Amino acid sequence: ETIHIQTESKKYNVFVGDGVSSEIDSFLAAHFPKLTKVLIITDENVAKLHLDQLLGQLQHRKPIVFTAPGGEKAKTFDVYYQALSSALENRLDRKSLILAIGGGAVGDLAGFVAASFMRGIPFIQIPTTILAHDSAVGGKVAINHPLGKNMIGAFYQPEAVFYDLGLLQTLPEAEIRSGFAEVIKHALIHDPAFYDWLLSNIDDLNGLTMKQLSYSLIKGIQVKNHFVSQDEKETGIRAYLNFGHTLGHAIEAEMGYGNFTHGEAVMIGMIFALKLSEELTGLSFNIERFISWVQKLGYQTRIPMHISNDQLLQKMKQDKKSVGETVRFVLLEEIGRPNLREIDDSLIIDRLQKF
Ligand code: NAD
Ligand code: ZN
Repeated sequence: ETIHIQTESKKYNVFVGDGVSSEIDSFLAAHFPKLTKVLIITDENVAKLHLDQLLGQLQHRKPIVFTAPGGEKAKTFDVYYQALSSALENRLDRKSLILAIGGGAVGDLAGFVAASFMRGIPFIQIPTTILAHDSAVGGKVAINHPLGKNMIGAFYQPEAVFYDLGLLQTLPEAEIRSGFAEVIKHALIHDPAFYDWLLSNIDDLNGLTMKQLSYSLIKGIQVKNHFVSQDEKETGIRAYLNFGHTLGHAIEAEMGYGNFTHGEAVMIGMIFALKLSEELTGLSFNIERFISWVQKLGYQTRIPMHISNDQLLQKMKQDKKSVGETVRFVLLEEIGRPNLREIDDSLIIDRLQKF
């Protein structure tokens, strides 16, 4: 299956299916006949599991491999510097290309290396997590600064995305949950029919079939694309993608990154936002049914006990997406109809207490 992505700055394809990454070499031959060098950027976990397959296919191109530490540790200045050094030492030039194989962390790092090396060289993404259906579409690439996540980055689109479902079979349970929370988010903010499909078809995240996985990712990508294609630089409706993230980011930060996956924190944030929506925008929705469904899928649905509500509020206020002093929440008027609301501190604290 192929999804066409059209942004103001670029048009590219996302190929989704079991085994699609085996077509990368012929894609390069067709689209980059003058290609000089290929730099593969991955992380240590993905390298162990999936690199040989890719190297086999690209052998004749003698690709250079840069392996970052696993997960979020790939997004430091230090690793970014090392990746650029590798590109320079191996004499990549403007006709070279970067292949990113890994989760969102690798995609963000590799994309930013590609965006900044010689003012920009082409890159291709091979996402290996469910969460990467979100990160691989939209063109945001970034590394972290000690003072904030994703603070140093660019908008930079790939030449293509090869979403090979076979590569997702090795994902640990927590990472499946993390990524699938974003799939559920995409359904809730834009596609009621997709939400109904999820609710009646998905009851075990560890036993997802290829069909379920492929449908979920394709739908999720289409929703993400809907919001970003109209708003590449995030000035308007792209903000709706932040559903569940206002509280989610705060929980993630309070728990310490790595102790609670992003998606698991966002799930709690979505439940909170759904409750606020019922109260403030008249959303009519069976929240109890939603909660018992996601509990069955393995999600936590409450804020971990030791986190204080005041701390959470402070974190929400620091979020780069909140304007000035008031915290903004994405709420739903209906499933598929998001809107943005400023919520007073006192109401937030009170509803957190009752949550
Ligand atoms: P990740 O890349 O850190 O991967 C999670 C873990 O799974 C890592 O330890 C990784 O090594 C491992 N892994 C990856 N693929 C695997 C596989 N197939 N089998 C076994 N293990 C595998 O995390 P993620 O959840 O994919 O992405 C999170 C990152 O994405 C964050 O840095 C976040 O900021 C970023 N993000 C970016 C955007 C964007 O628009 N650019 C959007 C959402 C998230
Ligand atoms: Zn997210």
